[in-house]
Amino acid sequence: MKLDTLILGAGAAGLMCAAHACGRCLVVDHAKAAGEKIRISGGGRCNFTNLHAGPDNFLSANPHFCKSALSRYTQWDFLDLVGRHKIAWHEKTLGQLFCDGSAKEIIAMLLAEIAKAGAEIWLETQIGEITHSDGRFRVQLTRGGKVTTVETRALVVATGGKSIPKMGATGLAYRIAERFGLPLVETRPALVPLTFGGSTLEGLKPLAGLSVEAEITCNGTRFREGLLFTHRGLSGPSILQISSYWREGDALSVHLLPDQDFLALLQSHRQTEGRKALQTVLGEFLPTRLARKMVEESGLVGNLGDQSDRSLQGLVSKLTDWQLTPTGSEGYRTAEVTLGGIDTAALSSRTMEANALPGLYFIGEAVDVTGWLGGYNFQWAWSSGWAAGQAIAST
Ligand SMILES: Cc1cc2nc3c(=O)[nH]c(=O)nc-3n(C[C@H](O)[C@H](O)[C@H](O)COP(=O)(O)OP(=O)(O)OC[C@H]3O[C@@H](n4cnc5c(N)ncnc54)[C@H](O)[C@@H]3O)c2cc1C
Repeated sequence: MKLDTLILGAGAAGLMCAAHACGRCLVVDHAKAAGEKIRISGGGRCNFTNLHAGPDNFLSANPHFCKSALSRYTQWDFLDLVGRHKIAWHEKTLGQLFCDGSAKEIIAMLLAEIAKAGAEIWLETQIGEITHSDGRFRVQLTRGGKVTTVETRALVVATGGKSIPKMGATGLAYRIAERFGLPLVETRPALVPLTFGGSTLEGLKPLAGLSVEAEITCNGTRFREGLLFTHRGLSGPSILQISSYWREGDALSVHLLPDQDFLALLQSHRQTEGRKALQTVLGEFLPTRLARKMVEESGLVGNLGDQSDRSLQGLVSKLTDWQLTPTGSEGYRTAEVTLGGIDTAALSSRTMEANALPGLYFIGEAVDVTGWLGGYNFQWAWSSGWAAGQAIAST
């Protein structure tokens, strides 16, 4: 079977690329349905892009790499596509755009675009040996027990990363990269809850289920969003965000309720509510269990009226710079994305094509470009998929 383009992976990036590659194009995937991660994303409503998406919202060994694709296929281009398909959407918070209805509308939109482009999709297809000679790739595919060898001019690898193996992640892209001599940047789970051990975990366990607004800082980067206490540690948007910057051994600095001037607040309450227990007063601003925990952490006992300015300052230091050192993360089982991947030094930032092997492209999460939480990762899938598709269509 002869093709112009074979795309491995019918996820966000692969589908976007197929809609733009032109010519005889086939997309293959081992899953039963296309776009499974789109379907479950954003709680079923798909946070499909972000109004503020720009290069600063991405991590990569080369922070400049994503600039070209992001500036040539922007969030506005994707919104335009969504508008043409009459999909209703809303901004939830911080520029995050979600479908009003269902994430399935985004999948249906991409499938309609692919049908319009004349590309074909084979699902429940196993990818076998991949070889390259005479400027063409040969890929062995097995579908319904039947083996087909496909010969193609362009081979696009869009099989994603390692996150959530239960959803079909296999890390195949990295093996293909190694097979053709492309370098990899070390991979690790990202946008993932962080776990704790020993006495820190014992101290956090009674707080499980509580959520508060917090600013979390690690390695010079800070995020201010929700913080959720779990049975194994910390989660919530602020923790998922900082997990991309955290490394084993690093402490997090947690600033609870960053809008409050706790010292001024406690000093003024001391005048009027001095007979109240410290944790009772603090409980007016923080969930009761957390208020109790923070007073314990500060080592203070007694009523608010008993506390000197210096003691209160010690408590405020805990509230504004609570140092917690995670022992690990929940790993690929729950990570929303994979940090690292195909080294961008080996790819063209304009086309996503391997510099050393014309015709071989890597797009989406497989590449060492990882977005923040908030629709950025899908935007990278759309932008990189579009960049490769356009490049293939114009050759
Ligand atoms: C629970 C969850 C929620 C998320 N929510 C959001 C969100 O709201 N907004 C956002 O921007 N990002 C979100 N993300 C991240 C986003 O889903 C990914 O960044 C994006 O899907 C990456 O697109 P991709 O096409 O590169 O890879 P994928 O979407 O992972 O697609 C890869 C495809 O390749 C197939 N594949 C893999 N290995 C093989 C193999 N060996 N043989 C054949 N096929 C294979 C898979 O079945 C899959 O269909 C979420 C992720 C998760 C896990």
